[in-house]
Amino acid sequence: MIAFDGVVKKFGDHVVLRELDLTVAPGEFVTLIGPSGSGKTTILRLLMTLERVDGGRIYVDGECLTHTEKGVADEKHLRKMRKRIGMVFQQFNLFPNMNVLQNVTEAPIRALGLSKGEAEARAVDLLDMVGLSDKTKAHPSQLSGGQQQRVAIARALAMRPEVLLLDEVTSALDPELVAGVLRVLKEIASTTDITFLCVTHEMQFARDVSDRVMMFDQGQIVEQAPPEKLFTDPDHERTRSFLHAVL
Ligand code: ATP
Repeated sequence: MIAFDGVVKKFGDHVVLRELDLTVAPGEFVTLIGPSGSGKTTILRLLMTLERVDGGRIYVDGECLTHTEKGVADEKHLRKMRKRIGMVFQQFNLFPNMNVLQNVTEAPIRALGLSKGEAEARAVDLLDMVGLSDKTKAHPSQLSGGQQQRVAIARALAMRPEVLLLDEVTSALDPELVAGVLRVLKEIASTTDITFLCVTHEMQFARDVSDRVMMFDQGQIVEQAPPEKLFTDPDHERTRSFLHAVL
């Protein structure tokens, strides 16, 4: 579960999010769409604690991410909360000097304290799930972009996150590699109880996989609805003009 309660985020004088309320139910797949600069990535960065709120609170599975009873969350609290949230980025950010298996086992060993054997067993299952069991010894530079992104997905899942954030995960990929990555994500969404919050320009993917799509503009939710409603019969003119421009 994710909840934003009156969240404000500013960069200097520029108010990017103004008292934003947003919820994603446990196990739900929510996609944020909207024009460039509307604040979608900022939402993900706040959840990853890469940015701090200027007002309001954020909750993850009922626990406050941004504050403790002592006030604004300290680094120890953020570190604990971060383990529950996974993120897959546009740029895969794999460790170039490690092979695929090491990329997937590194965080569970270091951050969760798993033994090498436990982490490897987990990694092997996940690499199988993303269709890369034959690449465990390869280095990232020997893989296609789509394969690297599937390793990044396995790496995020190896931490068994409650929430998985997806930031434009296909925009750095050649078109023919996009489908494989989206297929893997769809499979994960339908077979796990992970809560997903996704930012994408892939409208077909948003349509296929989301339980709910939020149309975002100028730091606010314009409207939100199941994809079959939002993409075919939106209530707001702003959504209609955005979809007209991108579809
Ligand atoms: P896109 O679809 O292009 O990725 P977005 O909806 O994800 O856009 P954000 O990246 O969240 O938009 O940015 C929202 C606004 O905040 C933009 O106007 C951007 O210029 C501004 N912004 C984001 N990060 C910073 C920063 N570190 N410093 C100053 N301004 C920032």
